[in-house]
Amino acid sequence: MRHELLKEAFEKKKTLKRKLKVYREKTAEKRAADVPEGLYEQCPSCKTNFIAEDIVKNLLVCPKCEHHIRVRAHDRMAMTLDEGSFIEKGLGYITLNPLFQDGYEQKLEKSKKTTGSDEAYMYGYGEIKGFPVVIGVLDSYFMMGSMGSVVGEKVVKSIEYALVKRLPLVMFIASGGARMQEGIYSLMQMAKTSAAVEKLAGQGLLFLSVLTHPTTGGVSASFASLGDVILAEQGALIGFAGPRVIKQTIKQSLPEGFQTAEFLKEKGMVDKVVHRHELKGTLEKLLRMHSGGRKR
Ligand SMILES: [Zn+2]
Repeated sequence: MRHELLKEAFEKKKTLKRKLKVYREKTAEKRAADVPEGLYEQCPSCKTNFIAEDIVKNLLVCPKCEHHIRVRAHDRMAMTLDEGSFIEKGLGYITLNPLFQDGYEQKLEKSKKTTGSDEAYMYGYGEIKGFPVVIGVLDSYFMMGSMGSVVGEKVVKSIEYALVKRLPLVMFIASGGARMQEGIYSLMQMAKTSAAVEKLAGQGLLFLSVLTHPTTGGVSASFASLGDVILAEQGALIGFAGPRVIKQTIKQSLPEGFQTAEFLKEKGMVDKVVHRHELKGTLEKLLRMHSGGRKR
């Protein structure tokens, strides 16, 4: 798994291995208080420190509080697909600054460095327990997975690729919504991507949408909510506008658990809430049902 921390640990292998040995021999309390740098990852929810390797092996789910840590696109591919089956498509797009917004290029550069990707959406061919699929992942570490023109275009290309290959499409969503720096060009992607999903339905092709934390704004209000089956990772925030904005607008207090995956399941907007450990198995079951068990 290409997790940044693991990669870092690998590069500094020798010293870190020695440090890790010493660290493992310490008592649990001492471990929590004194973790060697580059070796640990902290749960953003309960703030407990874990050895990066342990938390990666647990598919980035906190072993203590079950919090599902946000996943980078590369890692999501590795978690979901059979090893070595991924072939990335849709490379070579360049994001421009059509409205000449200050600092946009710098933000793009920073995200490129953090994620190792050119944009917030990655797609290609892959296999899930032997079932061939077209898979697309929105990366919330790239400008909050926001949808600019290139993301919208790549989403459409992935849908068209599924149409040409006549394969099921599996999409993992994580997005803050529209990309503010691209204004109207960003909003136009909502209609464009939704229209493309409609073509899938016309051809009887399966579209599985997996909503992960966070799924909001223009992405939640377009293609993300149009899956034939909509799964959601447990605890994910899913909604259009944030709770504060809604509260101010409607001038009413909001129900408990508002905008969580579990709340949306209860209201019928999500078909199933799935623990990350069960996700690959659930996708396999759905693909098997839809194909009648045929893998090719
Ligand atoms: Zn935790």
